[in-house]
Amino acid sequence: MKAFVIEGKDNSYFTVIDEPQLEDEYSVKVQVESVGICGTDIHIFEGNHGASKGQKRIPGHEFAGVVTEVGSAVKRLKVGDRVVHEPIGYCGKCYACRHGQGNVCQHLKVTGCNMSGGMEEFFVAPEKQWHRIPDWVTWNEAALIEPCTIGAQVCARAGVLPGDTMLIHGAGPIGILLACTAMQLGATVMISEVSEGRLELARAIGVPYVIDAKTQDTKAEVMRITEGEGANIVCDCAGIRAIAEDAINELSVAGRFVPVAATPFTFDAYEGMHKQVNIISSRLQMNQFVPVIARFKLYKDTIDQMITDVFDFADTKKAFEYACSRNPKTGKIVLRFNKVTD
Ligand SMILES: [Zn+2]
Ligand SMILES: [Zn+2]
Repeated sequence: MKAFVIEGKDNSYFTVIDEPQLEDEYSVKVQVESVGICGTDIHIFEGNHGASKGQKRIPGHEFAGVVTEVGSAVKRLKVGDRVVHEPIGYCGKCYACRHGQGNVCQHLKVTGCNMSGGMEEFFVAPEKQWHRIPDWVTWNEAALIEPCTIGAQVCARAGVLPGDTMLIHGAGPIGILLACTAMQLGATVMISEVSEGRLELARAIGVPYVIDAKTQDTKAEVMRITEGEGANIVCDCAGIRAIAEDAINELSVAGRFVPVAATPFTFDAYEGMHKQVNIISSRLQMNQFVPVIARFKLYKDTIDQMITDVFDFADTKKAFEYACSRNPKTGKIVLRFNKVTD
């Protein structure tokens, strides 16, 4: 079968490898139909991703396809089912796993990051790492289910409640899908961004308060919108130190700050204590695929607007080069393995 391999900066190519076989009675083999290109994949392509440095890597952690073979102990899935891949494998025994946080397992395996990913024609993984998707979810949309789960995880970690106010810095794919999830949960969302294309998308998906950080003072806007209370939750999806350091001033009392695109920052512990602020980290996702798929109708519209470019799998290299140009008009890029029919 064909696989796309990245071997560090400026060295990527297609190769032919053996089709993977079922590993045990719990394995499920899937023919890949669609893969999303994510920031992590771009870092791997540019040779600056920690877990992949100096390694040959088949990237891709956002993918979906059709089941072609199942192990004898597989109960939930059958040949022909349309499924999306959950890209985390965990041991089930370490401290994190014993406390329901397999997403930070000591022995965590992340598909396409520290092991092979979905930019190949077939992929084998345990049944628990595949989730069935409804027929009305297109293959392009299915490739974006994983990033939806990242937004859902941030909301779960931050304990979003109906009526909460949330300020999101950065309207890239994760910022947008976080906004979409928070709105579903009844939060009032404010999003601050500098790129015109991204501001437009935030408005188009119905974010009620879109702040143009080029021309508006984000903190002043937040105080105006929240009538001086501050945002109950601030999320940094931009990964900018100054934004993380200013979050304490944008937060309400009893507020929560989530540095989503984590970057080192200093924190005013006195002010933090005074307001009893929580700083909450959020990595990947845990148990978010089932709820995201269950309410996928609420994501569909947003996702359709986010997908700006679809490439044939044969043009994967071209797609990566295009992604690296970081055109501000580019939303999500999806690769397709078979003739594009949706
Ligand atoms: Zn991703
Ligand atoms: Zn573990």
